[in-house]
Amino acid sequence: MIESSLSQMGAALRAKKISSVELTQLYLDRIAQLNPELNAYITTRPEASLAQARAADARIAAGTAEALTGIPFGQKDIFCAKDWLTTCGSKMLHNFVSPYDAHVISQFNNAGAVNLGKTNMDEFAMGSSNETSHYGIVKNPWDKARVPGGSSGGTASAIAARLCAAATGTDTGGSIRQPAALCGISGLKPTYGVVSRYGMIAFASSLDQAGPMGRNAEDLALMLNTMAGFDERDSTSLQREKEDYARDLNKPLNGLRIGIPKEFFAEGLGSDVAKAVEAAIAEYKKLGAVIVDISLPNTRLSIPVYYVLAPAEASSNLSRFDGVRYGYRAPAYTDLADMYEKSRAQGFGAEVQRRIMIGTYVLSHGYYDAYYLQAQKIRRLIAQDFVEAYKHCDVIMGPTSPSTAFKLGEKGDDPVQMYLSDIYTIAVNLAGLPGMSIPCGFGDNNMPVGLQIIGNYFDEARMLNVAHQYQLATDWHSRAPQGL
Ligand code: GLN
Repeated sequence: MIESSLSQMGAALRAKKISSVELTQLYLDRIAQLNPELNAYITTRPEASLAQARAADARIAAGTAEALTGIPFGQKDIFCAKDWLTTCGSKMLHNFVSPYDAHVISQFNNAGAVNLGKTNMDEFAMGSSNETSHYGIVKNPWDKARVPGGSSGGTASAIAARLCAAATGTDTGGSIRQPAALCGISGLKPTYGVVSRYGMIAFASSLDQAGPMGRNAEDLALMLNTMAGFDERDSTSLQREKEDYARDLNKPLNGLRIGIPKEFFAEGLGSDVAKAVEAAIAEYKKLGAVIVDISLPNTRLSIPVYYVLAPAEASSNLSRFDGVRYGYRAPAYTDLADMYEKSRAQGFGAEVQRRIMIGTYVLSHGYYDAYYLQAQKIRRLIAQDFVEAYKHCDVIMGPTSPSTAFKLGEKGDDPVQMYLSDIYTIAVNLAGLPGMSIPCGFGDNNMPVGLQIIGNYFDEARMLNVAHQYQLATDWHSRAPQGL
């Protein structure tokens, strides 16, 4: 059952071939067995999950089940979930039990899905290896000496190890796509504004977007159907007609124009990754697609632009963690200012403190024009490159990450090396575009390689179609790590 797609699982549940309680217990047993080593989940509450499963079984019996009713999912620990410890990977929120549900969580709850637990992540979603979590590193199930990617590393590891049917992630600069690539699974970051950010702990609000992660494109489409939709509690949530993201899955790809940006195949790309991505593009030609050479000249600036803008927004968003209202408070202090300082110095990890300091600096008087404003202008140029490119192609393809999963500890001391792992993903967030990653082979170390598919605004249904047709023709997405 754990190798079935979400629609097969849903059908089996509705046909009463298996109950939600049985399916949930199966995953809980796998979590009990494998999570102590992988550390993909920060929190599980088996009783709460089983209570949801019982409610789902009642709904199935009553004949009111929906597509996801009774299916067990993991939820990234960045989403507030009522009565669940919600840490965002930080010591700062080590004792925060959320009094309410994020929009994404209530959408899953309303659909009758089961919450299996809160998945591990980089602290406040800052990182590319899941090594900045206060709750410990997460291991890649394909090779436990390697990182799962980040910041949605717990989600990616849990899916690859079959510790859930699928799970949620968030992507500010690549945090859905890069861990999906490194763990051999599929993940999609929607167009900015498609999924409500209400109750999703903010990192960089103009870039943050939640999305589905799972084993194949068809599963992502079903999840996105549940996750997407207007929510008046998020001022950037878009008021659009509800769509069925699975509607185009089976369209043939004849005549699809795939743009290949030359900047994505330049220096810095691992030759094993390049080989797998080129083979995937060749497969697309067999499926009837045509290749168009394009250029995204300003994307080379996306890392410096992101590392001005994201820390600037983070420094503002994270000012709410002050030891007063919730979260960590230093045990000893002399006065209010000292309490703020000590709580923040002790509650935040090194990477988060680095970002807060950079952000405060670029927003400060005298530097604002030189850094923040300049970065905003370049952000517009980066977005403009895509507008130009989409005059000539329907989707853009390239690698998701320059390398396969690196060794735990390998890049920990060098923030710039770590930042470079998002070189192909960040421009998509800066432009607000949808992007996804699907497995397309294995590299030199037998670690998975991800193919990135970037769509035009609101073109998620087409991207899912493009991914699904490839997954019908190949089997990379159904490979599973052995010997766990
Ligand atoms: N790795 C990037 C960072 O550290 C992106 C993180 C994300 O998308 N949340 O900021």
